[in-house]
Amino acid sequence: MIELPEASVLAAQLTSTVKGKRIARAVANQSPHKFAWYTGDPATYNDRLAGKVIGDAVAVGGYVEIEAGDMRLAINAPLRFHTQGEKRPTKHQLLVEFEDGTAISGTAQMWGGFFCLPAGSAAHFGEYDVAKARPSPLTDAFDRAYFGTLFSADTPKLSAKAFLATEQRIPGLGNGALQDILWTARIHPKRKMGELTDDEVDAMFAAVKGVLAAMTEQGGRDTECDLFGRPGGYVTILSRNTVGKPCPACGAIIRKEPYLGGSIYYCPQCQKL
Ligand SMILES: [Zn+2]
Repeated sequence: MIELPEASVLAAQLTSTVKGKRIARAVANQSPHKFAWYTGDPATYNDRLAGKVIGDAVAVGGYVEIEAGDMRLAINAPLRFHTQGEKRPTKHQLLVEFEDGTAISGTAQMWGGFFCLPAGSAAHFGEYDVAKARPSPLTDAFDRAYFGTLFSADTPKLSAKAFLATEQRIPGLGNGALQDILWTARIHPKRKMGELTDDEVDAMFAAVKGVLAAMTEQGGRDTECDLFGRPGGYVTILSRNTVGKPCPACGAIIRKEPYLGGSIYYCPQCQKL
């Protein structure tokens, strides 16, 4: 899976690189993957896509949604562009070849959706359909008042990580972008939402908006790659690249530990429990 900043970067790069190209053939599920999801039989993707012309691509949460004639591809896995004659990856879950000899491929990480749907129809895959229905945190519609509507009777019992990065409460905000958001807000990932002060909730909202926007504007996180295989320009503060190194704010050593089905990273000084 990928997250909103990377999906936004891939969408912009796809629009400027493959828009207007006609699909020569498509291959889905060439390398079977236990956690790769398709809409319908992947063997029929070629019938659904061949001859279609690529239009705009946009990010929908952590999905890259690509117009292909009257069809839509919605993919939440890393995508790569391949030039004419360039060797294609040996393993992939989706390969789309264009008539001019270029191509794009998608490869699932831990899991990945590779949906192919008629324009305007739902994927009937909860996460994607929810992302379609909710405002993107990169838009003005996602304001402080809207953020307030995400709180329910159960929220006080949730940890900050569970609140921000589960249930697609905020489309495309996953366990990767989460780390720098909580560091920026100075909130430990295990803090219970019910214990946060009003100022901390305001700081959390500001960090969601500010950090996701910075990650997107700077070409995605440096732990992920873009359409051309280049790492993003956003230098992560808390990630596998920085664990064991000093916090840039206070100098304490950045820690990593497992929590809620994924690693959390935090500064023990800036983000106290
Ligand atoms: Zn610190």
